[in-house]
Amino acid sequence: MENTLIKNPIILQILEKYRIIWALNHLGALGHWDMETYMPQEGARARAEALAKISVLNQSLFLEKDFVSLIHEVEGEKLNDNEKAIIRVLKRTLKYYQKLPPDFIEEFTRVVNESNVEWRKARSNNDFSLFAPYLEKIINLSKKKADLLGYTEHPYDALLDEFEEGLTTKEVEAYFSKIKGPLISLLNYIKASSKYKIEHELEKESYDTARMSALNHKLLKKIHYNLNHLRLDVSAHPFSSSIAPSDVRMTTRYEGTDFTRTYSSVMHEYGHALYDLQSHEDLYFTPIHGGSSLIIHESQSRFWENIVGKSKEFLQSIYEDIVEASPELKKYSIDQIYTHINRVKPGLIRVDADEVTYHLHIMIRFEVEKALIEGRIKVSELAEFWNDKYESYLGIRPKTYSEGILQDVHWSHGSVGYFPTYSMGSALSAVWKKEIEGKLGKISDLVQTEEGIRKIQNWLKDHIHQHGSTYLYQELVMRISKREFKPEELIEYLEEKYKNLY
Ligand code: MG
Repeated sequence: MENTLIKNPIILQILEKYRIIWALNHLGALGHWDMETYMPQEGARARAEALAKISVLNQSLFLEKDFVSLIHEVEGEKLNDNEKAIIRVLKRTLKYYQKLPPDFIEEFTRVVNESNVEWRKARSNNDFSLFAPYLEKIINLSKKKADLLGYTEHPYDALLDEFEEGLTTKEVEAYFSKIKGPLISLLNYIKASSKYKIEHELEKESYDTARMSALNHKLLKKIHYNLNHLRLDVSAHPFSSSIAPSDVRMTTRYEGTDFTRTYSSVMHEYGHALYDLQSHEDLYFTPIHGGSSLIIHESQSRFWENIVGKSKEFLQSIYEDIVEASPELKKYSIDQIYTHINRVKPGLIRVDADEVTYHLHIMIRFEVEKALIEGRIKVSELAEFWNDKYESYLGIRPKTYSEGILQDVHWSHGSVGYFPTYSMGSALSAVWKKEIEGKLGKISDLVQTEEGIRKIQNWLKDHIHQHGSTYLYQELVMRISKREFKPEELIEYLEEKYKNLY
């Protein structure tokens, strides 16, 4: 069948060749998913070897002369938005492969593999000194990587760009400077409220894992329209992985207490999954199928997690199912569940943070990473630097390394520059809420019926998902809302919601 979006004959030739790279990526993703879910533990070594070889093969296919020259041949051609995006994404990967020499990649991979092992040890032993020398290596290699990739203003720009195309230090700084003051004021307002309460009985309520798993599957059946292209399994850290256009795998975990944690992770990962599933079918097998912008992706997951999943109306619509899965919860009213799931509680752990304090956790990480890259702080001083920031922004100070500087896996993966996309993506979800409400009416009304949920999904498909990675996040905001992305919209959303709750 003829492709309705992609017409340029050179691009069609490129895509023909790209299909084998796509196929390798497809099997690589499946290998990763299996490793995190069902693979017996002892399979790890062979799998790591197979995945490493697949990525080497992928790189060499990418760098084949014919393929590279086709990418250059397109220059000067008149292309539509999708075609331009295909070239943009391919050139980006090409730049990465061409600028980072194989010995650098090898060293980086080796250090990351060792770091990850040491980080796990350090975290479980609460001993920062075990991880510090590896972190130091990662920071030095990241600086080197920034130099190799190139940047115009700040070395951290090159690292941010790896996770969000074109994102700069200046942009992230401007973003946080706009939300920092209002967030701290809102947090102070909440803490002064008579309704402010750190503990909630519900967080200690245990549940039966099998019944909770049944509830999660029922939940997906309720919100999703075709379960033939979606799976939900269990992994240590919840994730969503797009294996193929109509094969997306999600995972969650069962802590055994407080059902809202597994529930929220399912809603979150569903947002990621839906983005990939609703891409235009003519973008199948191209490098722009699904979302590649982490900011846009996170705006989808946070939309389903917080704006849909934590609304009283949606919770009400599944209340019967919740108490059926966990009869002990019958003693809690929907109001109690709603206030528990939206409880603001300054804590030390980012992944447990509420919608308000979450951004402060991210801001701290941004400030820490920037200071490290600028060489303003040494790794040996880092734990204190981190703790001081928690004390100053959140009013609490970590007592152990494990609940402080050692809590996140990112640095041990070699990911420096990733964190800002979490906060900016959440902020973007508030923009989508406003846009949807302007066109379709209140989300709180829409989520009460299947028809309303379909309307939300269709809006997301038409405006965001179908384009895959065609547009960068600022471009997408402009196309949809006819205005620039403004961090203030996050504050408006949070103030409206939380001044009602507290
Ligand atoms: Mg996410």
